[in-house]
Amino acid sequence: MSAIQRLESGVIDQIAAGEVIERPASVIKELIENALDAGAGRVRIETQGAGLSLIRVLDNGSGIASGDLALALERHATSKIRNASDLQQIQTLGFRGEALPSIASVSRLRLISRATGTVEGAVLTVQGGEQEKVQPHPHPPGTQIEIRDLFFNTPARRKFLRSAAAETRALSLRISQFAIAHPQVRFEHIHDGRLLLEAAPTNSLKERVAQVQGVEVAEHLLEVEEESTGGLLVRGLVSNAAGSRGNRSGQWLYVNGRLIQDRSLGHAIHEAASDYIPRGRHAAAFLFIRVPPEAVDVNVHPAKWEVRFSQPGRVRSLVYGAVRGAALRVLAFSTAPTPVAGMPEDSGQPVAAPPGGEWATVLDPGVPAPGQTLREPVRATFGSTATLRPQPAAPEAAARPLPLGGEAPTSLVPLAQYRNSFIVATDGSDLLIVDQHVAHERILYERILRQWDEGKAERQPLLLPRPVTLSPEEMVTFEEVRSELEEAGFRIEPFGPREVILREAPAVAGSENVEALVRGLLEEGIEARQGRALASLRNRLAARCACHAAIKVHTPLSMEKMEFLLRELLRTRTPFLCPHGRPIVLRLTDRALERAFGRC
Ligand code: ADP
Ligand code: MG
Repeated sequence: MSAIQRLESGVIDQIAAGEVIERPASVIKELIENALDAGAGRVRIETQGAGLSLIRVLDNGSGIASGDLALALERHATSKIRNASDLQQIQTLGFRGEALPSIASVSRLRLISRATGTVEGAVLTVQGGEQEKVQPHPHPPGTQIEIRDLFFNTPARRKFLRSAAAETRALSLRISQFAIAHPQVRFEHIHDGRLLLEAAPTNSLKERVAQVQGVEVAEHLLEVEEESTGGLLVRGLVSNAAGSRGNRSGQWLYVNGRLIQDRSLGHAIHEAASDYIPRGRHAAAFLFIRVPPEAVDVNVHPAKWEVRFSQPGRVRSLVYGAVRGAALRVLAFSTAPTPVAGMPEDSGQPVAAPPGGEWATVLDPGVPAPGQTLREPVRATFGSTATLRPQPAAPEAAARPLPLGGEAPTSLVPLAQYRNSFIVATDGSDLLIVDQHVAHERILYERILRQWDEGKAERQPLLLPRPVTLSPEEMVTFEEVRSELEEAGFRIEPFGPREVILREAPAVAGSENVEALVRGLLEEGIEARQGRALASLRNRLAARCACHAAIKVHTPLSMEKMEFLLRELLRTRTPFLCPHGRPIVLRLTDRALERAFGRC
């Protein structure tokens, strides 16, 4: 074995850079944090070539004195803390004095700055860690830092980067996340010469969301605020059901102005919102948690993504309480069900909605054999469902419905609709419960894929072309998946740096709320491109269109509609699993029922 040697400082810097500077977005994060720590009221970011060719950040903050420029690039040199006890009281975003030397060791860096109260600025250039002499340089008060050829001397790191679109998306997301946390600061982002974000200072968080993510997103947000003793406070915005997303990427949590990731707070949001956000969806939320600096440790993660609270349970219940406040307001104003696309018109009377949703709608006793004409449904007043539930005598006697699998039955006859959401049916011998939304979703999904396969997605021009403002990340994705959207039957044209015009949509999608559908499709595009998804982008787009157009839960259905749904479901290739892999039909066998009643 060779002798032990001390590493050269350049190598040490590159090793350290490996921890915090993973990709262009990490550089952006560190530079914006520095600008904000310097009290900037304006931050202008310019990027080229996914941030690999150029990242330039200009601010009007307090600046760096020319005598300090070289020091700013030294490891463990910071103006933000002085001693160990300051670590208990961190009020700034940075404090380790590591970012600039790390970035400088893996790029060509130029730092120009003029401190407030001085008459001239100065410039310092570094190439892969090698500093040149500080020179005078004219500059307005503030700092401009330029990073070129990121990772030019670390080819391994470069190799692990994702596509240009994915890196651009990641860095513009980071910018958006800062912009939301600082509405009073002007943010501008110019990417490859195009203005991707321009957010004028405002005092309103909601307006800032509108600037960053578009007015349509902001419209679905409710203001929340919750306070607790000991200086704990959370305020922000939480979405209603229409503003929900297919994943948690729309939940942005900040602790003392710092964006963090915290699973247990994510769960708190989920739980609090679960009774008004549809299954499989997630509320969007922008929540700002304020805790006294001594009650949180921010020094537990290299990129400071995670924090540790001294009383995590209290923070959790605070967040829960805030989101619960939004939930109660949404539930108090819940909207009427929307019309259903792709379903036959009713000729007869719809099944009346049972009062309160807690009452069961059942048929006259006497189950009709398959094919036999159905009798008119009558409403039985059994009292609450709780009293209906049989108490199982022993575990083996439990009448537990199980997902239906194996051979598909030849016919399904609807008996009744339960809670306006489930079709109670029979295949002649067993009792079946069908989730109306996922059943319809499966039918539409296969129909959409079939149409796309045959190259004849039915298009439908929108009566009024709809302008949609996208977030910077959505705009990047739009350009990436535009041809797939065209094939799927959409005609969407770019209209401004971040605006598109929606002119045609696939006929199957209907004309209700197509803007939301387009956003949902871009969300799928992002997931598919991030390689997180197993299914292809095409399948995901089809699943999203199907989910959008499928009949929702809490929608009363006539017998005809239920018959239609069940018949079409049996014609699908996979009648038991929805495109997302959830069961569509539950079966309670005749035998299990008999046994549960102690008859055999
Ligand atoms: P940290 O932010 O942890 O202190 P950095 O390496 O990011 O470490 O920056 C080192 C120092 O350089 C900072 O403490 C600050 O004094 C100075 N600095 C960096 N960027 C700026 C800026 N945009 N405006 C003013 N000062 C800055
Ligand atoms: Mg810093």
